[in-house]
Amino acid sequence: MTEVKVEILNIGDLPEQFKVDYSGIMKEILNSEEFAKFCFGRKFKFTRLSGGQVLSTLLRGNENWNMQEDYEWDVTKVVLSHDGPGVVGHCFLGKEGIYSNLDAIKYPWELIGNMAHEMTHFLGFTHPYLAGKSWTPWGHKYKGVSYDVGYFFRDMAKKIIENKTRDVNLIREIIHGK
Ligand SMILES: [Zn+2]
Repeated sequence: MTEVKVEILNIGDLPEQFKVDYSGIMKEILNSEEFAKFCFGRKFKFTRLSGGQVLSTLLRGNENWNMQEDYEWDVTKVVLSHDGPGVVGHCFLGKEGIYSNLDAIKYPWELIGNMAHEMTHFLGFTHPYLAGKSWTPWGHKYKGVSYDVGYFFRDMAKKIIENKTRDVNLIREIIHGK
């Protein structure tokens, strides 16, 4: 299995419910059999790459600001903001940094989904309008690698975080004899 590291050096001030192990959870998802199966079984829109090629592109960790094929996701700067409802997050190609909007993100798994979405941009995947096409009704239905991967990360992170919370509560019950 490919070793992939997620590094978050600065995640800003987080509300209490957002204090989860981002690095560990994203690494777990990226290396999971579920994610590999998801990619291999999929014909992603707006790319000529096969699902397997999409997966290997993501795993190689070649962010477009440093072009290091280091098998690491270098999420070194996540800036949290309050930009009102609307855009969930954004990034600038070729420049380190993910900007996530806490007015549009209510749960840690949504933040993980947004971080994964923005990472796909750094790793070479874009939206159809950025590729010179305008949004179309089918464009919203089939949003391509960035949305597909972002939603996968969000949904799997939700399961992981909820399972961990359940385990912690179970341990508390055992300790307190409830
Ligand atoms: Zn995007």
